[in-house]
Amino acid sequence: MFETLKSRPADSILALVQMYKEDPRQTKIDLGVGVYKDATGLTPIMRAIKSAEHQLWEEQDTKVYTGLAGDPAFADAMIKLVLGEAVARETVAAVATPGGTGAVRQAFELIQMARPEARVFVSNPTWPNHVSILNYLGIEVVPYRYFDNETRGVDFDGMIEDIGQAKAGDVVLLHGCCHNPTGANLNLTDWQSVVDVLLETGAVPMIDIAYQGFGDGLEEDARATRLVASSVPECLIAASCSKNFGIYRERTGLLMAVSQDADARKLNQDTLAFLNRQNYSFPPDHGARLVTMILNDDALRADWMAELEEVRSSMLELRSQLASELQRLSGSDRFGFLAQHRGMFSRLGATSEKVEEMRSKHGIYMVSDSRMNIAGLNAETVPILAKAIIDSGI
Ligand code: PMP
Repeated sequence: MFETLKSRPADSILALVQMYKEDPRQTKIDLGVGVYKDATGLTPIMRAIKSAEHQLWEEQDTKVYTGLAGDPAFADAMIKLVLGEAVARETVAAVATPGGTGAVRQAFELIQMARPEARVFVSNPTWPNHVSILNYLGIEVVPYRYFDNETRGVDFDGMIEDIGQAKAGDVVLLHGCCHNPTGANLNLTDWQSVVDVLLETGAVPMIDIAYQGFGDGLEEDARATRLVASSVPECLIAASCSKNFGIYRERTGLLMAVSQDADARKLNQDTLAFLNRQNYSFPPDHGARLVTMILNDDALRADWMAELEEVRSSMLELRSQLASELQRLSGSDRFGFLAQHRGMFSRLGATSEKVEEMRSKHGIYMVSDSRMNIAGLNAETVPILAKAIIDSGI
C-alpha cells in the first residue's frame, strides 16, 4: 500500500543544516536553524533546568500518567507567566502539549472543530510550519501584509487593511513577540490598533508566543498577548517553553483558550482534553514538570530569569555590534533595522541569489529568505558577516 505515498521535499532548514555539516571550510558560519547558541556555538542546558532535573531525580517517586490536560500546576504556572493578571484564571481553558508546535496544531484542530469554514489569516511571511499545518488540515490560509522589504520593518498600514478583511468567525494568527522569521515587531500602540480591528471584525485572535524573554524582557514580551487577551471576548494562545527554558527536545508547550463565557470555557477545556486523547493521549510531562518547579521556586526562578536575561542581552549586543559594523563599512544607516529587530531572527531582505552567493563564496549559511539566526554569531564572526554582506552588494 505504501507505494502510493508521494515523496515530500526535505525541510529546507534541515537540508541547510546538512549542507553546513558537509562544508569543510573552517571559516563557515551557521545562521540557519532556530536554536539559541552561546558564543562557543553550544546550546546549553540552563542552570535552573539542571538543578530541577537533579531534584526531580531525587524526589519523583512515580511516572504514572498525568491527566489528559497535563499537570494542572503546569497550566497554572504558565498561564501566570504568559498572561500575568490580564484575565481571570477561570476564563482560561488549557492543555499541555508536545512543544509549541503541539499547541499550534491543537489550536488549529479546535478552530476546525468549532467552525469548519473558518479561515486563518497569517502574516506574510510567517513561521512556515503554520502554513504547512493549516494546509495539511485543509484550513484556508489568508496571508496578510506584514514585512516591508524597503524598511525591513512592519508594513503596518498594509497589515491593518488586510486583517480588516477578516470576518466574525475567522482567525487572525499573530506572533506575540519576536516575529519569526523577520524579527520585525509591532509596538504597543500598533497592537491597540490591531485589537480595534479585531473588535470591529469579530475575528478571533490566535497568538503564538514562542520566544517570551528573548526580545525586550519576560514581562515586556508578554504585554501584547496580555493586551489582546484582556480586550477581546475569545482568544487562543499557543506558548512554547523550548527557547526560553532551553528544553527543545523535551517538547513542552501549553495551549490556552480564553473565553469570557463560562459555558464556552468548559466546552473548550473538554474539547482540548478530547483532542489530546485522540492525538497522543497524555502530553509529555518531564519538561512541563521542570518548568513548573522553576516557576514555583523563588531561587530556581531567580536563577532562570538571570540566565535568560544573559541570553537576551547577548543577542541584543550582537545586534548592535552587527548594525554598527555595517554602518561603518557602508557609511550609511541602512542596516539600522538589525538593532531594531527583536528575538533570535532578522530578515536581511536579500534575494535568494545573494543568500546563495553568501553561502558559496563566504561559507555563511542563512535560510533562503535571508533569515539569519543572530545567536549563530559571536564577536569574531560579526565583522566577517558584515564584510561579506557589503562584498555581496546587499
Ligand atoms: N511558533 C514559532 C513562531 C516558532 O518559531 C516555533 C519554533 N521554531 C514554534 C512555534 C514551536 O516550537 P516548539 O514546537 O519547538 O516548541
